[in-house]
Amino acid sequence: MEELQVLITRAQIAAKVAEIAERITADFAGESVVLIGVLKGATIFLADLARQIKLDATFDFIAVSSYGNTRQHSGEVRLVKDVDQSMAGKNIILVEDILDTGLTLTYIRNLLLAHQPKCFKIAALLDKVSRRTEAIDADYVGFVIPDEFVVGYGLDFAERYRNLPDICVLDSKRA
Ligand code: 5GP
Repeated sequence: MEELQVLITRAQIAAKVAEIAERITADFAGESVVLIGVLKGATIFLADLARQIKLDATFDFIAVSSYGNTRQHSGEVRLVKDVDQSMAGKNIILVEDILDTGLTLTYIRNLLLAHQPKCFKIAALLDKVSRRTEAIDADYVGFVIPDEFVVGYGLDFAERYRNLPDICVLDSKRA
């Protein structure tokens, strides 16, 4: 069995999500937004965030290949599912669980900027700043975390643990 240690509690997450939602609501007052979730890790964050954003909002989802069952980033990002609609002229908020090296979001950002949106912002719940290799940052960041492998609140290890309500560090010796 892997060992889990709580890093960020559900109460801390809820408070931070409310704070980010408030900022987004203020920043886009009077406008419509498209929340684009990166499957599958961002689904829970998107669901919680969306319900607190007091704006006219729609959802879309994008999927790229990522870690699979290991912790190493292959350095390659492959599109698995594109957005369903054109984002031309839209206010896009890309919703991601965690920003690590930045390879994934750089790839997705370039893909979406090609649609020529009106505005493009990134909301990342977690940010491993120390691991960044690409020149990309989120506009809305929940928590800056150390270089530990975390699971829960949508984040998986080999598809497990996504349903944990807290964000936990997975024992580094095991996985
Ligand atoms: P990046 O392309 O920024 O290196 O990696 C982003 C992706 O890597 C995230 O969307 C997530 O799928 C995965 N990832 C990075 N760090 C972690 C982590 O600590 N835990 C989990 N479960 N996934 C991670």
